[in-house]
Amino acid sequence: MKLSQKLFNDAQEILVGGVNSPVRAFKSVGGTPVYISSAQGPYLHTADNDTLIDYVLSWGPMILGHADPDVIKAIQDTAAKGTSFGTPSELETECANQIRHFYPHMEKIRLVNSGTEATMSAIRLARGVTNKPILVKFKGCYHGHSDSLLVAAGSGGLTFGSPDSAGVLEDTAKHTVVLNYNDTEALKALFQEKGDQIAGVILEPVTGNMGVIKPTESFLNALRQSCDDHGALLIFDEVMCGFRITNGATSDVLGITPDITVLGKVIGGGMPCGAYGASAEIMAYLSPEGPVYQAGTLSGNPVVMAAGIATLKKLRDGSMFKKAENMTTTLCNGIQDILNEKGLPYVLRQAGTMWCLYFSSDDIQNCDDVSSCNMEAFSKYFHSMLENGVYLPPSQFEACFLSATHTEKDIEKSLKACKISTQ
Ligand code: PMP
Repeated sequence: MKLSQKLFNDAQEILVGGVNSPVRAFKSVGGTPVYISSAQGPYLHTADNDTLIDYVLSWGPMILGHADPDVIKAIQDTAAKGTSFGTPSELETECANQIRHFYPHMEKIRLVNSGTEATMSAIRLARGVTNKPILVKFKGCYHGHSDSLLVAAGSGGLTFGSPDSAGVLEDTAKHTVVLNYNDTEALKALFQEKGDQIAGVILEPVTGNMGVIKPTESFLNALRQSCDDHGALLIFDEVMCGFRITNGATSDVLGITPDITVLGKVIGGGMPCGAYGASAEIMAYLSPEGPVYQAGTLSGNPVVMAAGIATLKKLRDGSMFKKAENMTTTLCNGIQDILNEKGLPYVLRQAGTMWCLYFSSDDIQNCDDVSSCNMEAFSKYFHSMLENGVYLPPSQFEACFLSATHTEKDIEKSLKACKISTQ
């Protein structure tokens, strides 16, 4: 028996499903999760003594590669001076300033411990500012697991959501409306009908949770216009796409500025972190300045801040992003060549340092399109890639990521694996 199998068996005795986050359990592809003993640069070293080229990168954060020496040194030096104070440290201001350099429209920032916490708090803020109940989200966009957001689409575009998880009250879910991504007409119709009750609209401005889907221009314009016309707040959840589509704000590339921005992943350099921010006027609604309450014992934790600062400093001049993006393009071009040569019906999407290979012959514009992909074929491809030394996200719905440490050699090896794994 492989050591990973034994470790998973042991874990299942004490951890629910053997994991602390469901997708790690490999349910959608079958098989046993790979246990990691260490990671360096673009590589995962497994408990079974294999080395894998990693395109998951902790689901996005590790844009500098694993165990970047500067980030690790910052963590070690800071931890040696104490790991939590429960009172301010200068590092919090510095980390926020580093973030604001890339996101100047986040005039004021609140730092928290995860993407879930940041999105949950941003929604509370939107409702607190507008004094309205309805949140609009899009099917296939994941924004963490707070109650308002665990809502799947109803059957029709304009139906109210029903809970996606046991334990979420219908009463909570009924204040979330779910529409299809890129459905401009449904968005406009919803605002026509219920605009006076809508507090905010939240979306991934480029998605990573139904693979990589970009918004159409008409959809983006309608989002901004509808929110402006009806006094709703537009929330960009850049937890995943932040620092991944461009070297900083996705909103810069899209040419639309949101009212509230939510971040996570990269800004914590691999440590638990989230942030949300907006104009000073909106953020003034937040406690201790205003009536919207939100707090955290470990928020702005010094070790987390140190990792975030070290990461953001290294990203400043754009060269790390460029390196990662160039490698992503090389990889995607190579995959495209393989698919073309074989005449296979796949859709390949790249946005900056994110990419996704869909097992579909149809265009992919929203979650329903992704749901109709050939999941069995994906599962076979995933396991074959793994056997050939390449670690991909264990789900067709997830994006792949590159780091500044992936090399031409890694790409070559990955393409060889891809050639074997696509049929
Ligand atoms: N928003 C987006 C876009 C995400 O991708 C995620 C997590 N993948 C979250 C929010 C939640 O972040 P966390 O897992 O840190 O709570």
